[in-house]
Amino acid sequence: MQYVSTRGQAPPVSFLDAVLAGMAPDGGLYVPEAWPRTLDNEEFRALCTTDHFSEVARRVLHAFAGEALTEAEAAEIAQRAYLRRPSGAAPWPSAVTPLRQIGDGAWLLELFHGPSLSFKDVAMQLIAPLYEHALARRNERLSVVCATSGDTGGAAVEALKHTDRVDLFVLTPKGRVSEVQRRFMTASGAANVYALDIEGDFDACQAIVKSLFADADFSSRARLSGVNSINWARIVAQSVYFHIAANTLAAHAKPNFVVPTGNFGDAFSGWVAKQCGAPIGKIVLATNANDILTRTLNSGRYARATHSQETLSPAMDIQVASNFERILFEAVGRDGAAVRQLYASFAQGGGFDIPPAAFARLQAEFGAASIDDAATLDEMRNAAAEWGGFLACPHTAVGLRAARQIDSKPSVVLATAHPAKFPETVERASGQHPPLPQHCADLFARTEKFDTLPAEAEAVKRTIRERSRAWS
Ligand SMILES: *Cc1c(COP(=O)(O)O)cnc(C)c1O
Repeated sequence: MQYVSTRGQAPPVSFLDAVLAGMAPDGGLYVPEAWPRTLDNEEFRALCTTDHFSEVARRVLHAFAGEALTEAEAAEIAQRAYLRRPSGAAPWPSAVTPLRQIGDGAWLLELFHGPSLSFKDVAMQLIAPLYEHALARRNERLSVVCATSGDTGGAAVEALKHTDRVDLFVLTPKGRVSEVQRRFMTASGAANVYALDIEGDFDACQAIVKSLFADADFSSRARLSGVNSINWARIVAQSVYFHIAANTLAAHAKPNFVVPTGNFGDAFSGWVAKQCGAPIGKIVLATNANDILTRTLNSGRYARATHSQETLSPAMDIQVASNFERILFEAVGRDGAAVRQLYASFAQGGGFDIPPAAFARLQAEFGAASIDDAATLDEMRNAAAEWGGFLACPHTAVGLRAARQIDSKPSVVLATAHPAKFPETVERASGQHPPLPQHCADLFARTEKFDTLPAEAEAVKRTIRERSRAWS
């Protein structure tokens, strides 16, 4: 299976090259040259139950990797991610992502039972053995760098800590990350993890990471790689739970999936599963006040807001939904030149109008709703009262409220983080304090380790030069 760029000007690459590279050299994102057909059959559908998560993950991974992985290699990677946990690692529940009925025609897909308590663990836990496999085969090491204001950092640390061939550098904006989130990054105790507290805001962190990748000499000597939400392996890994949930509910006609979204990563994974045959109705995009995707679905114009807003659901405080480029590519009939043109207007004027035929396709596949903080808090109160003490994290509450608004059943709401990851907001809404699960109950007793650095690329480069085992 080869991967092509959404902007049509980069040479096709293999699955592993697409995963390790992140972005394509023409500025586009990698997508498979054709959608796999091996998942659209009764035998696979019958396998899709919560009892077989690791086996479903193997099939999905193999379908997208093609000749890059043998079936045995895909099995080994999926089992290390979800089944045979390293000693001392937090266990998954046997279902990995349990599906629970919360009302008439309404289900909750619980994606927060991983080691750092957000849905990002599901994909990141697969990326770690996948990277180790690819690097061992090539006898290489990598420096993975990520800027995070939320859950990506914790999930990356939990997945990549103690790996042999990867050193991880996580940049966070000083004072802008919640204590639970910060501790997942600073208190891993791992020698190959470096938490860098940057004296600046999230945009400053992101700008530094961009400039590291833009410095070709530095980037190749450090063997830089990223694990942000455009990473193709994350999209593939996240499509697994859509297959399982949709097929588990196959008796209920095609359910809609309501996805709390920021970067359009998880939502795009749902579309990928549907594209590969999963019985899914609409994917409903649930955004907070940072509503670029909802505005787009309503107006046909994809346009940046003047500034991003701080909300109670910080993991979705995003102005530009990076993975939207992938669905746009599909909607315009895989015309890379058209995508290139639209994104050139976006870079120049901050927006573009989606061609009418493409917009009609998007509207046929997606719904959208934007939920403000007041409605989010109200929904958190509701959830606690209606469903016998069930506590929703603020992101999940955005999804629950969106499901209530669109009122189209059956529907599955994705629960993207554990309530204990956002204790202040949960307590404010419900009056209840959500306890940390047992596997991380000692989080506040662990020793933190981090470096404070000025918001300058040079300071971060020096740290990577000195510490990365990949440096040459
Ligand atoms: C990252 C995140 C989201 C948004 O996911 P995208 O793939 O960026 O759309 C939603 N909820 C939580 C808790 C997250 O951490």
